[in-house]
Formats: sequence, structure tokens, C-alpha cells
Amino acid sequence: MVSGTRIVLATRNPGKVAELRDILADVLDRTGLELVGLDRFPELEDVVESGVTFAQNALLKARYAAAATGLPALADDSGLAVDVLGGAPGIFSARWSGPLGEATGRTRDEANNDLLLAQLADVPDEHRGAEFVCAAALVLPDGRAPEQDTAAGGVAPQVTGTEWVREGRCRGVLGREPLGDNGFGYDPLLVRPDGRTLAQHTSAEKHAISHRGDAFRALAHDLGSVLG
Ligand code: IMP
Repeated sequence: MVSGTRIVLATRNPGKVAELRDILADVLDRTGLELVGLDRFPELEDVVESGVTFAQNALLKARYAAAATGLPALADDSGLAVDVLGGAPGIFSARWSGPLGEATGRTRDEANNDLLLAQLADVPDEHRGAEFVCAAALVLPDGRAPEQDTAAGGVAPQVTGTEWVREGRCRGVLGREPLGDNGFGYDPLLVRPDGRTLAQHTSAEKHAISHRGDAFRALAHDLGSVLG
């Protein structure tokens, strides 16, 4: 079912491609597939993330990459879900502080963390639970010509083939100040059961327990079983 020797990851972020090469090292070795990012396809437009769940957005991105390249495609969508905020920031995690945050002159991650800490200032420790969630999607095109998806406003080409979506989670509690220099996003806020924030973990430690690691390891299993 898989043709060629490449599998595309629907991101232009080279850091994410490198992280996924680590997480998927076994299955890439076993299948001989080379993982490439969308930076190898500069002519492709960015897909509009119009889904309202992590899974919908991950599938949108993977379908688009598969249809546009003809290659098997992987994509993910992730974010932070805070218990007392009913799962917010959720799919809005990347831009939680919006234009007001950018106007502060802080980096986007710093502004997001500042806002979240302010919102939770009065929330006691026992109610500060939160988790990172990642939906990872795999689309294996069957080689037939893609059709235009008019239901999605004609933006995303449709692809026929087989699809999988897996979710991973990484739970902790939100601290009261950012701690640690590794990682990105909300990593300095999420305190794990060992008392360290994710930003105080090495990359290898984080991959072993992360939402992205879990979701993609489950997908690697699916990919491995399809490829025999
Ligand atoms: P993306 O879907 O991986 O681009 O993630 C969207 C946003 O969720 C990021 O910009 C971060 O704010 C947040 N996020 C997702 N994963 C992580 C993580 O592993 N650590 C910290 N923040 C994350």
C-alpha cells in the first residue's frame, strides 16, 4: 500500500521533524522510510486549521499533505487542556494571549504563560490539574486521483485511502511560575509527579512520557502492522 520510500510529516518546523525522527526511529529503520517535512515541498500552501478538535485538525493536515504529495502522510495537532478551564486553551493553545500578548513585547510562549498564570492566580493547588493532548494522524493514500473537497470550502483536496488517528496525553499540575529552560510552549508550567516541570526534563525524558510520544508510538505500531 505504501509506495516510494518517503513519508511526509505535515509541518514546516524542522524541530518537529527531528523530534519525530527520534520518536519513530524504530519503525523508520524497519521500513526503510525516510521522514521528510513540508519544507521539501515549498510550493504547497499552508492548510487552514478549521477543525474544532485536535483530531479533526490533525486529519485535515495529514489528508492535505497526502493528497498534495501522493506520499503517506503524518500530522499532529496538540495543546494544553486545563481542568478548571473546561479543556481550554485546547486547540487555541498557540495563540491564547492573542494580539494583546504580542503587544507586550514578550515572546508568544511567554505571553501565553503569563496570561494562563494570571487566569489561575486564585485557583488552589488541588484544582490546578492539566494535561497536554496530542492527536496524531496517519493517511495512506491509495494512489487514486484526489478530488476537491467542496464541503471544506474547496480548500483541502480530498484523498482516498486509509486513515488512523491516535491520541496521547501527558498530565501534571500547573505551577505558579515558569521553571526550566528546555522545551517550548507551556513546558515551564506543567509540573509532573516527580516535582519537575516538563522544561526541567531532557528531550529524551520528555519524549518518553509526552503526549506526542504516546500518540506517535501508537501510530508507529499501526504503520508497522500495515507494512508487515
Ligand atoms: P502544535 O499543534 O504542536 O503546533 O501545538 C500548539 C500549541 O500547543 C503550541 O504552540 C504550544 O503552545 C502548545 N503545546 C503543544 N505541545 C506542547 C508541548 O509539548 N509543550 C508545551 N506546549 C505545547
